[in-house]
Amino acid sequence: MRSKINLISIFCAPKSGSTLLEVLLSSHKLITSIGERRFEFKKCNCEKSLYDCNFWKKIISKLPNKNAFEILADNKDDIKSNREVFEGMLNYSNSNFILESSKSSKFIDKCIKNDQSFNLNLVTLVRDPIDLVQIQKKKRIINNYKKGSTIIKTSFFVFLYYLKQLRYLKKTFHIIYYDEFMKDPISELNSIYRKLNLDPISNLKVNNYDIHSLGGSFAKTRNYNILRRENLNYLTGLEKLIARILNLPSKLIMKYILYKKNA
Ligand SMILES: [Zn+2]
Repeated sequence: MRSKINLISIFCAPKSGSTLLEVLLSSHKLITSIGERRFEFKKCNCEKSLYDCNFWKKIISKLPNKNAFEILADNKDDIKSNREVFEGMLNYSNSNFILESSKSSKFIDKCIKNDQSFNLNLVTLVRDPIDLVQIQKKKRIINNYKKGSTIIKTSFFVFLYYLKQLRYLKKTFHIIYYDEFMKDPISELNSIYRKLNLDPISNLKVNNYDIHSLGGSFAKTRNYNILRRENLNYLTGLEKLIARILNLPSKLIMKYILYKKNA
């Protein structure tokens, strides 16, 4: 048994680009991603069911507790089962780091508390709150207003996530600003790899069929080699004004986090 699990955790508000960051970060052979740890869906991102996927079949066969997946489906933040699964993943894939992007502050708090079991590397990802409001509006348009959140609801939730990021700032290992990441993903990835003592990369290479993470807004058809910032323009003038006012506190926190990043 390992004394400590090296864990990289991406923490951000939903729709900040964590799946993209997660997929690209875990393209490194020494990083294995579990994604959002969504065992309740019983589906792997390789498109097979959790119990048909070769990767997860191997993991479960080696686990001391064969019920671990079921326990995690009921309680995704159960530390003992998470630890067992992480350990199984590290052994099977011969890697050094587990990457997760569940955005669960409950889980992060538990990992901080269990610092004898986890070596936590918290990655704080920030994205302009107006972008996040825009993406929720886009989601509502695409889904005939049956999915996605209103401006007020999104603004409130984004603010809660920013408050948590502020609370974790001292524990943060690395800060990423979405816009900078889109401009130069390789150099952003390499700055993380460097801090983790991993070899840098010179190009983005993602094998879509070798991804066994669980959950996340997945886009298989996405071409990771030509990343560009999406031009978001879904809000009317009035909505944009409302969003700007409601998101002023979040924007100030984001500015402060970015100031700390560059300090
Ligand atoms: Zn799979």
